[in-house]
Amino acid sequence: MKVLENIYLIPSSVNTYLIEREAYCVLIDTGMSKSAKKIIKTIKTYCPDKPLKGIMITHAHQDHIAGLETLGQLYGAEVVSHKEERDYIMNIRKLPAIEGLVGIMLRMFQFLSPSSGYTVDQIVTDREVAFELKVYHLPGHTPGTIAFEDIQTRALFCGDIINTNQKGSKILPPSKTFALDYEQALKASKQMFQLSKPSVILPGHGKPILNPSEAIKTYLEEYS
Ligand SMILES: [Zn+2]
Ligand SMILES: [Zn+2]
Repeated sequence: MKVLENIYLIPSSVNTYLIEREAYCVLIDTGMSKSAKKIIKTIKTYCPDKPLKGIMITHAHQDHIAGLETLGQLYGAEVVSHKEERDYIMNIRKLPAIEGLVGIMLRMFQFLSPSSGYTVDQIVTDREVAFELKVYHLPGHTPGTIAFEDIQTRALFCGDIINTNQKGSKILPPSKTFALDYEQALKASKQMFQLSKPSVILPGHGKPILNPSEAIKTYLEEYS
């Protein structure tokens, strides 16, 4: 689904996005391994003649990175993450455990489907630009969670820093259940809108919000 002239949404339980540049394309997150087929089809349909040069990872949760198993090798694209998230993606270190029942379920899931980790080729830090995307380091959901702002269009790829409702009309706070530090994650989400005035909000879950200035204003008022 086309969101902007050069941006395609590949919807699933986790949204992934394909950005078409003049000479190449870039992917934001990879979704679960079952999403890989859909992503490959989207690349073939919309960017058949352009190499996939970058795979940008918002954070290390499996539902955002498991597709790397297929996509990383298939395209030989540079996999990019924040420096604090790299070791978790590569499975050199484990993310701190989430408390409660969800934490137990996640650990069971990890035990039943262990990941040997994925290669990260390039690390980025706050405000750095890679593949014409500006990086904002906004920790809380995980230590190295980042958002990417497209320099050309000001489209903002938010990962799990916020959520949106199913109508694509309202910004919702980050998940309490999956955040390592909810208060920090909430603060980071508000900071994101101080730093960026996006033309469209592209979340990891939920519907994109076009022309989001009113929705941002409401969110900042509601969670101040
Ligand atoms: Zn997450
Ligand atoms: Zn997520």
